[in-house]
Amino acid sequence: MEMTPGRIFTEKLLRWHREENRRQMPWKGEKDPYRIWISEVILQQTRVEQGLAYYQRFVEAYPGILQLAKAPDAEVFKKWEGLGYYSRCRNMLAAARLIAETYKGVFPKTYHEILALKGIGPYTAAAISSFAYNLPYAVTDGNVMRVLSRFFAIHADVSTGAGKKKLAGLAQSLLPPKKSALFNQAIMDFGATVCKPMAPACGICPLASDCLAFRRQEVSKLPVKTPKPPRKKRFFYYLLIEHKGKIAVKQREGNDIWRHLHEFFLFETPKAQTAGSCLKSAPMSSVIGKDFTVVFASKPYRQLLTHQEISGFFLHIRVKKRPELQGFEWLSPEQISKKAFPRFINFFLDDYFRKKADQA
Ligand code: SF4
Repeated sequence: MEMTPGRIFTEKLLRWHREENRRQMPWKGEKDPYRIWISEVILQQTRVEQGLAYYQRFVEAYPGILQLAKAPDAEVFKKWEGLGYYSRCRNMLAAARLIAETYKGVFPKTYHEILALKGIGPYTAAAISSFAYNLPYAVTDGNVMRVLSRFFAIHADVSTGAGKKKLAGLAQSLLPPKKSALFNQAIMDFGATVCKPMAPACGICPLASDCLAFRRQEVSKLPVKTPKPPRKKRFFYYLLIEHKGKIAVKQREGNDIWRHLHEFFLFETPKAQTAGSCLKSAPMSSVIGKDFTVVFASKPYRQLLTHQEISGFFLHIRVKKRPELQGFEWLSPEQISKKAFPRFINFFLDDYFRKKADQA
């Protein structure tokens, strides 16, 4: 009987995994759902090389769900600092606390219970279900969609819900129910090391003879993806208002980016400004008046987020009279170093306070 393309794909992929897959990851083969969950949450939107140190730091500090659930928010945020996308950290804490209360600290064991946890979508639920419990759920991430789009020459747009659904359905139909952990690991590793986004290794690919994109010379056209709209530009002017050696710092609130992280007095504008015009602007002068000394004006710092580009500038000023600032704490540089800040503010703080310490 002739083999279907789906069967050929699965068999060749699993053979490649058995005989040729050399990809090493510290969490590979991990069966503990808690550790798999931590690694998956860290790796969302983060490169493996960057995520690795965070993963190790996290599982060392919080070896189990109960330790994580009991940890104070500020401490966990400080450990997360630099990874970005802080909603991941907030959701992770909320889910850990729910598991501690509702499931007595034991990670849930069904796909639907796992999917119901805060911050866990179908991809992470499938990864935990298959790797920890060998449940038959296929993972569908960028790697998987790329491999399947190419091998089966599927031109559905993977940036749309319909395209994702089509490829998720295909991945699920290809998954051998009793080998779900193997299949999921194999397809993700294959996408990361052979069928890569740029310059896939078609010349040595064991699937090439059956790959439709390769045979039709369509590899560079797949997967189909609508380009993302340009990022919104925002300009953040931060005042480091210093009074008697202490600087005003507050925690960000509301629904904007970086909720719960810290910052200095912020003046945001839709366009770039000079330091002088900024200091004379109404929001700034209403706070600091005219009696201040400018200590330092920084170079621009930039941070790219998925939909936004932030340009940050820092003006350190010294005032004789402490202004009344609601929601701010007055902190020494040492106290500031213990707070969690967005990444570009940390870069500035490293440059600025380190330089000052070196000069002292
Ligand atoms: S032949 Fe190229 S495009 Fe096709 S599966 Fe292999 S690496 Fe991917």
